[in-house]
Amino acid sequence: NSFLDLNLSRPLLRACEALGYQKPTPIQAACIPLALSGRDICGSAITGSGKTAAFCLPALERLLYRPKRIPAIRVLILTPARELAVQIHSMIEKLAQFTDIRCCLVVGGLSTKIQEAALRSMPDIVVATPGRIIDHLRNSMSVGLEDLAILILDEADRLLELGFSAEIQELIRFCPKRRQTMLFSATMTEEVDALVQLSLNKPVRLEA
Ligand code: AMP
Repeated sequence: NSFLDLNLSRPLLRACEALGYQKPTPIQAACIPLALSGRDICGSAITGSGKTAAFCLPALERLLYRPKRIPAIRVLILTPARELAVQIHSMIEKLAQFTDIRCCLVVGGLSTKIQEAALRSMPDIVVATPGRIIDHLRNSMSVGLEDLAILILDEADRLLELGFSAEIQELIRFCPKRRQTMLFSATMTEEVDALVQLSLNKPVRLEA
């Protein structure tokens, strides 16, 4: 039960070491190999379980071993609230500190113009709240998700409780059909299950 068993590249292992992570948490040990194999994942996991690194590390690994030919957004992480997005963004900056992977934050309350410019520069990863990213996708000719490889829905129960169901459905229509999707939720309600049916393809179910 070590990060060395998880088939992660050196820059990511170095980052885990720099963060003081000694061994993967249970959700990380379960999720990372499955995510690296390309499976869709439906995880019941709460904050504190290490779920953020459980989905960020395999997403980063995939960006490292499948470099892109053209600049494009390859990973989109959707989360219900601004402060959660800020935390995930900061975790990615730390995990990606020894790589040249770029991550951008797209949330309400920040300048739309600056975010538009950041999105146009085609970061590899976008961490967003639903309302704001949908605005950009609807209104911008230059920001698209055609090359998205991984969609991550974090705190799906809260996304739905906050009334983002229509936005998520619209967002999924902007994503390529052929993609990997990971969904995490503290609780598995009927509504969450409906979203799982809609957005995931033969998911593996994990509990932390
Ligand atoms: P999360 O559940 O993703 O919100 O993470 C909760 C906290 O656990 C964060 O402060 C992480 O930095 C930390 N963490 C994540 N993975 C590990 C690990 N493998 N070992 C020690 N701490 C970790």
